[in-house]
Amino acid sequence: MKVLISDNLSPEGIEILKSAGFEVVVKTGLKPQELAEEIKSYDGIIIRSGTKLTSEVIQAADKLKVIGRAGVGLDNVDLGTATKKGIIVMNAPSGNTISTAEHTMALILALSRNITQADTSLREGKWERKKFKGVEIYGKVLGIVGLGRIGREVAKRAMGFGMRVIAYDPYLSEETARKLEIELVDYPQLLASADYITFHVPLTEATYHMFSEKELEMVKPGVRIINCSRGGVVDENVLYKGLTENKIAGVALDVYEQEPPEESPLFKMSNTVFTPHLGASTEEAQLNVAIEIAEQVRDALLGKAIRNAVNLPSLEPEVYEEIKPYLLLAEKIGLILGQLLDGQIKTLKLKYSGEILSHDITPISSALVKGFLTPILMESVNYVNAPVIAHERGINVEEVKTTACGNFTNLIQATVFSREQENSVSGTLFTKKNPRIVEIDGYHVEAIPEGIMMIIYNMDKPGVIGYIGTTLGKRGINISGMTFGRRRPGGDAITVLNLDSEVDSETIQELLKLEHINTIKVIKL
Ligand code: NAD
Repeated sequence: MKVLISDNLSPEGIEILKSAGFEVVVKTGLKPQELAEEIKSYDGIIIRSGTKLTSEVIQAADKLKVIGRAGVGLDNVDLGTATKKGIIVMNAPSGNTISTAEHTMALILALSRNITQADTSLREGKWERKKFKGVEIYGKVLGIVGLGRIGREVAKRAMGFGMRVIAYDPYLSEETARKLEIELVDYPQLLASADYITFHVPLTEATYHMFSEKELEMVKPGVRIINCSRGGVVDENVLYKGLTENKIAGVALDVYEQEPPEESPLFKMSNTVFTPHLGASTEEAQLNVAIEIAEQVRDALLGKAIRNAVNLPSLEPEVYEEIKPYLLLAEKIGLILGQLLDGQIKTLKLKYSGEILSHDITPISSALVKGFLTPILMESVNYVNAPVIAHERGINVEEVKTTACGNFTNLIQATVFSREQENSVSGTLFTKKNPRIVEIDGYHVEAIPEGIMMIIYNMDKPGVIGYIGTTLGKRGINISGMTFGRRRPGGDAITVLNLDSEVDSETIQELLKLEHINTIKVIKL
């Protein structure tokens, strides 16, 4: 079998493929036309971000079975065409975990002992021993926000230094955290008790500026803040404010809202350390990614194992076409539920009924779990690894099949149970292809799951709908769809809107001013 390497890859990766008996050809810098011609005879291809695997190129790849991306992002691969052709697309998400965790520790230590400032001072010919007196990290509380791959590695290392580690991550069961010997707390608790706060979350709607004015008010005075995750997770202006008001004792950043960052007032502060997005920048990380992807491609081509696949290769193209509408519906139900979740997650219960049972529901459940985890994990979750990730996080996924589906010919109902509450979303396909959400939290509705949905929990009182329409209208937000559900006349109700544009927090605050509106959730699909 032949494997094409079309971007630079460490020789160790190439060696893995060669010693497994593959013919390996390295040809970098091919133009799309040349690649479309070259790719015809290959069984596998390994790329980085340079190679563009467009629909045309993939169409031409008659023998191709596997596309391997050394790294995470897959913007340069036409996934739809690859899936239709039954080609497995895989990435290598974990090769840089240790490097980033070590960089975080380096920043924590540099901040605590004024390493960079002392270095500069010494080079200027000074000997300022008093000025750079530091603090020990031993015995201090480290608050980790986001206990995923990197967060967990940081935890291990910090414990080695004798730090007490607490973490906030609502998408992890308490049992899993207990096994890691880490105390899970809620965000306000973490803010109030941590001496160091380090962020290891993806950048999502929920994590954008998750450290802002409100959070600054809640921190323990003298806290040190570290961000090696993504720019935009912490509000840089608020960090500056915290430093000038002496609420924050130090800031270390590896990532910035704008990269490279423009001149920032933060750069004038002395109790800070900055690096230019170096978290994954080590020899080992580059090597690990090459080895990881070469092993994955080797195992997939030899039919041994499929790891980190991002599409649905195990389905025959005809089966995929047939169940595609269910996959899309399931993924949307999951996406809505993932955004409704509040509190520490426990169980996800999936109930299938009606015509859908004539299909294998395994990939449909995977699509639902993928949708559910996407708002939390972004690109690192895919159809293939979603069930594994859920299991690894201690999320109990239960499947129930029943023939009763009321007025519908097919129905998927998903319920998430957290420590504090439960949320449910049901969906069906009208005429086997049009997805509809028909129930949210026990209310019957009929909503199209697309674009921006606003879910309003309100009382069934005169004037509420008018107020919503007028408030949104005043702000130029067009309502493209609207549906209501209520338990009894005059009682609790739900209003679900499809909107043509984004809603800002001011508009939401304005809506919440009406006493009959209790809660609002904005869902993006
Ligand atoms: P991961 O997906 O393994 O872990 C992310 C964790 O964040 C998950 O456990 C998730 O449940 C949690 N999370 C999501 N939303 C949350 C929220 N609102 N509140 C609390 N927790 C939340 O990802 P990872 O591989 O550990 O990467 C973490 C971050 O580091 C990512 O943003 C990634 O892009 C970034 N990263 C940076 C560098 C660098 O060079 N500085 C290198 C690699 C990764």
